[in-house]
Amino acid sequence: MKPALTAPTPTDTACITLDLEDNWDFESPDLRYLVFDHLDEYVALLDRLDVPLTVFVVGQVLEDRPEAVRRLDDELDAEFHLHSYQHDMHNEVSLEAEVRKGTRAFEEVLGRDPDGYRAPRFIVNDGDLSTLSDAGFAFDSSICPSYRPGVYNNLDLPTRPYYPAEAPGLLELPVSVHPRLKIPFEQSYLRLFGEPYLRLLERSALPDLLVFNSHLHDYFHTAAHDNLGRIRQFAFKRNIDRSPETFERFVGLLRERGYRFRKLGDVSDEIRTPDSAARAESAPVE
Ligand SMILES: [Zn+2]
Repeated sequence: MKPALTAPTPTDTACITLDLEDNWDFESPDLRYLVFDHLDEYVALLDRLDVPLTVFVVGQVLEDRPEAVRRLDDELDAEFHLHSYQHDMHNEVSLEAEVRKGTRAFEEVLGRDPDGYRAPRFIVNDGDLSTLSDAGFAFDSSICPSYRPGVYNNLDLPTRPYYPAEAPGLLELPVSVHPRLKIPFEQSYLRLFGEPYLRLLERSALPDLLVFNSHLHDYFHTAAHDNLGRIRQFAFKRNIDRSPETFERFVGLLRERGYRFRKLGDVSDEIRTPDSAARAESAPVE
């Protein structure tokens, strides 16, 4: 594989991202969008913590729940990017069609094109990044340099921002992982591992740029959780009633370390300015 080119990495910077999508991939119409009933609590949580939010929104959510998107836009310091059109779980649909339909829905509600993209389940196929670059995206945040059996294995990919060899015009802002354990910085893992993991994070080195991912269903219990299979129920429901508090503690931990909270699009704009690009080293990423 051709080496990627490094991009400058801001330090002590954290970006809280939310993938705004329906709960899960189930059939029952009664369960659709149940987690959106918790939007009040979510807005109150982010407002209280006073952190800006980067939202990757699914095209179908923009069509089905435009009022929820507008509400986050109006009431929070939030920016929006695209998270596919139909959130296909099986990696079977064409990215070109997802981008075309997703962008149309995005424009309809938000009145502009999305700058950034995140793929469902962090699955990126060969050629996808050049498709995104050709479609005019400035950045992608779909690569998680970790290992999820049967889904992705990106342990050999950079953990810092980079310009991918196949699409040098596109900035990749990877989802961050614990430097030693390679556990992704996601609300689902904070919730699942709970208090002992928070205590470990208090003693851990953390990434210079920390891109954190979350979903509404990581924070709030709904009847949709109870409809999952037994193993997934265990994983998705464990500690969920304490999940907002766990997030609050994590934000506090980052503040104590001197992190500044910013939106991912702003970080992308800063990294991609010509001045800053000129400073980037054209050495392979380690
Ligand atoms: Zn998703």
